[in-house]
Amino acid sequence: MQRKLDKIMAICEKRGFFFPSAEIYGGKAGFWTYGHLGTLLKRKFENEWNLDENFYEIEDCNLLPEQVFVSSGHLEHFRDPLTECKKCHFRFRADELIEDELNINVEGIKAEAMDKIIRDNNLKCPKCGSRELTKVRWFNMMFELKVGAVGEETMYLRPETAQSAYLSFKREFYALREKLPIGLAIIGKAYRNEISPRQVFFRLREFTQAELQIFFDPKKINEVENWNKVRRYKLRMFLAKNRKSKKVVEMSCEDVVKKLNLPKMYVYYLAMVQRFYLNILKIPKEKFRLKELTEKERAFYNKIHYDVELFLETLEGFKEVAGIHYRTDYDLRNHQEGSKESMEVINEKKEKFIPHVLELSFGVDRNVFSIVDIFFKEEKERNLFVFPRKLAPIEVAIFPLVRKDKLPQKARKVFSLLKDSGFIVFYDEKGSIGRMYRRMDEIGCPAMITIDYDSLKNDDCTLRDRDTMKQIRVKIDELPQTILKFLNGEKLTKLGKIFK
Ligand SMILES: [Zn+2]
Repeated sequence: MQRKLDKIMAICEKRGFFFPSAEIYGGKAGFWTYGHLGTLLKRKFENEWNLDENFYEIEDCNLLPEQVFVSSGHLEHFRDPLTECKKCHFRFRADELIEDELNINVEGIKAEAMDKIIRDNNLKCPKCGSRELTKVRWFNMMFELKVGAVGEETMYLRPETAQSAYLSFKREFYALREKLPIGLAIIGKAYRNEISPRQVFFRLREFTQAELQIFFDPKKINEVENWNKVRRYKLRMFLAKNRKSKKVVEMSCEDVVKKLNLPKMYVYYLAMVQRFYLNILKIPKEKFRLKELTEKERAFYNKIHYDVELFLETLEGFKEVAGIHYRTDYDLRNHQEGSKESMEVINEKKEKFIPHVLELSFGVDRNVFSIVDIFFKEEKERNLFVFPRKLAPIEVAIFPLVRKDKLPQKARKVFSLLKDSGFIVFYDEKGSIGRMYRRMDEIGCPAMITIDYDSLKNDDCTLRDRDTMKQIRVKIDELPQTILKFLNGEKLTKLGKIFK
């Protein structure tokens, strides 16, 4: 829905969620700045992204040596089919032209085959309409840099964070007492020279990934310690055979293992990921599905691949925000060959093997954008973000009812009290109380506190709930505990008496 997208973007740019990077110079497609609210929201997502207690976060360089990408296969395979209009010289992706015009998925097919489809169907330049297009050729999406004063060494900006976990595996395996499975998580920037960045945050040239690589013994792929915790948990499966009917089936983890013949460990992490979306991010169930990718659609090194898709009104459909990939020993084996450094470990039966990898990969920016889309609400008198309280960038706002009679001083004291208690707090005294409420509604602040004349007498204040606009009175010395309960999801009526 273009209208909704425009509305959301207008609020986000105006209020400091995100806006084009280097905007005063016109900006560049696929590069965005997070403003103060967007930065807080993104950080909240990253902090909540905690999929298992058994993982460790590491951090690596964005720039890596060429040999890494020779071994990983990125130099050869990380590419998009490019075509150019001979008339207006517009460059675009051949696969997208075909997908947009004919609704055929051409993932995995050769350049000549795409040429043929374009010719046979008489496809034209999306910009000027000319039918004279160059032959499809491959374009590598990595950014190449020359390093050193005379530029003697070629390095690349990493196109994904995953490689750093593989490069660090041996070190961390020994540092973490040689136990499998271990998870190495990285939250960081990745870079792709996209031919045509589009759909706001869905195809960026510089973006943030949150990726967890779980290294394990392939013989133990059906041994999961906490299996009983998820056995009966129902997954929302969008299977490849239901692509046409668009039907999502709910299946217990146990059934998924039995009927779809998926390994327990894989299914366990499907459940962890779904729980993260439904319980932590509070995504409505019907907007979430786990999409099975067919053999043709998934990368050749992924043995099993499901995407997390969320329904976004602004982009008119389900969009991919994460993926769960069983990559086998593809990565470590390649790095073993490329570096001549052994990646083998030994299990308790004294068997030598290269660990396999299960990858949980999240596009952070896509998820942030999805949260903004899904929790945007239009009401008669106001537009607002109904973010889950814990995810809201600003948690509490404090206002004096009027700017006189010592009310601002009292309000500032409450501001300090809450700030010192660890909340993300915002103080405002510019404007009428109604307007201040609206401004905070608009950015999704869940709790608003007003200091009025009674506050001076009784040492209390009002607490207003963003969603219902109802209010209660709270003693100021009880405020930190009350706010904590409220942000953890307690109903306002449980915390005090609603007054008119
Ligand atoms: Zn053209």
